Amino acid sequence: MSFLAYKTKLKLNNQQKTLMRRCAGYNRWLWNWGLDLKQKAYAEGIKLNKSQLRKFYTNHVKPLYPWQSSLSSKIYQYAFIDLDEAYKRFFKGLAQYPRFKKKGKSSNSFTLDASGKPIMIGGHRHKLPFFNWLKTYEKLPICSTKKVTFSEEGGDWFISFVIEVDFLPTEKLVDKVGVDLGISKLATLSTEVIFENPKAYAKALKRLARLQRDLSRKVFQSHSWYQTKLKVRLAHRKVADIRSNGIHHLTSYLAKNHGAVVLEDLNVKGLMKNRHLSKALSDAAFGIIRTQTEYKCERYSSELILADRFKPSSQICSNCGHRQKMPLSVRVYSCPECGMKKDRDLNASLNLQSIVAGSVTLRSVDGVLPTVPCEADSKRQSSLSSFG
Ligand SMILES: [Zn+2]
Repeated sequence: MSFLAYKTKLKLNNQQKTLMRRCAGYNRWLWNWGLDLKQKAYAEGIKLNKSQLRKFYTNHVKPLYPWQSSLSSKIYQYAFIDLDEAYKRFFKGLAQYPRFKKKGKSSNSFTLDASGKPIMIGGHRHKLPFFNWLKTYEKLPICSTKKVTFSEEGGDWFISFVIEVDFLPTEKLVDKVGVDLGISKLATLSTEVIFENPKAYAKALKRLARLQRDLSRKVFQSHSWYQTKLKVRLAHRKVADIRSNGIHHLTSYLAKNHGAVVLEDLNVKGLMKNRHLSKALSDAAFGIIRTQTEYKCERYSSELILADRFKPSSQICSNCGHRQKMPLSVRVYSCPECGMKKDRDLNASLNLQSIVAGSVTLRSVDGVLPTVPCEADSKRQSSLSSFG
């Protein structure tokens, strides 16, 4: 059994947005009230736990604030649970001492449940506690969850929840694949499948660069500066979204269709020192690819092999083992020993494919290349993280 965490943007009308903000404001009020009371009680030598807080609040405080009864009572249950957790993390040394939430500075969020009943999610419209029907931009798989959290980011509202899932091992088309993570291309596989960086990505990057130039020419904090600033933020998010989708696409394809996946264990930090490469490398997000491949391989019962990062997979001939210098500008590997000519990245991926877990020697690849249809799974991933 694994857990999948979803977070996706809500499609709200103004009335719903106002209600969301009121709920988040209530949550902030409760947190601050609870924190204040806990501190005062502690000064008197009394430790208040979450159920004592809740009892005191419902019997003696809530009746004083009529506006609070129009909002969901789930909000205060979770506010006190969150406060309790914050204290626990503090005492374990995992977090700072809980602080008061400030309007506009702290994150706007709150959590609801359906009193133990499952909350059904699926499609574009979802029946949720307190709000009744709410829409998401993204079509969600049919599933159920126990609680949902709403949060605001830059004026947009998001819903997040966790579902339990059983992943069945998938049928593997190829025993083993070598993956060369690239700069111009996202990935080249030893099966000759290539994952290009999406065209939309380059376009979004260009737009972002243009907007950032625009912003630098505006008068700081003027009306049009704020307008452009908002556009820059949205463009940033678009770039991140496209990149994230592309990476999910690649890593799902790898884990689902291959018995073993060989990735280069790149020393990203070392590479980052090279200024020319660093932008492109961080864009290709090697670290994220590795983490995702790791948990997805576990999910679909395939093996992840990390190749020694000092092994020069691009310098060695995948056919005969000859080694030569390969500057980045040389795009084709031409072997003077055996006459093999192959795309530089494909040659590197074939070297990776021939690596056996734990071994450090390269052997030549013989036989015919396995072929797979060049279509990656088209299921759109909205999961941001996974654990379990
Ligand atoms: Zn050769």
